[in-house]
Amino acid sequence: MNQRILVVDDEPDMLILLQRILQGKTNYEIITTNNSLEVPDLLEKQFFDVIITDLSMPKLDGLDILELVQDRGSRELVVLITAYGGFDSSEKARKLGVYDYIRKPFKREQILQTVEAAMQEQRQRRQSE
Ligand SMILES: [Mg+2]
Repeated sequence: MNQRILVVDDEPDMLILLQRILQGKTNYEIITTNNSLEVPDLLEKQFFDVIITDLSMPKLDGLDILELVQDRGSRELVVLITAYGGFDSSEKARKLGVYDYIRKPFKREQILQTVEAAMQEQRQRRQSE
């Protein structure tokens, strides 16, 4: 089964960048949206191993998405993309079970390493079931 990533960011340029990084170096299936209101529906329809989401977005923000995943009791690993410095909601994110953070500006390698670690964790979880 192909592992799947959902990428959510209100800035289309950021989505294109992330998609390019991931598609260039991995074989994961990648779904993107710049409208966070679509996320509940997307999660309803299929399982994503990893959700990479911007923290700061209109409508549903990154913490709302974390909360949504937690409320559903589903097992997506959520990676928050945050602006450099000044992130005061990390305590809340931790309580909501955030998997990891990526701070802007990020390097391509950071994205790839974080995604690989999360994908490996998901494969291990599946094996131990
Ligand atoms: Mg944003």
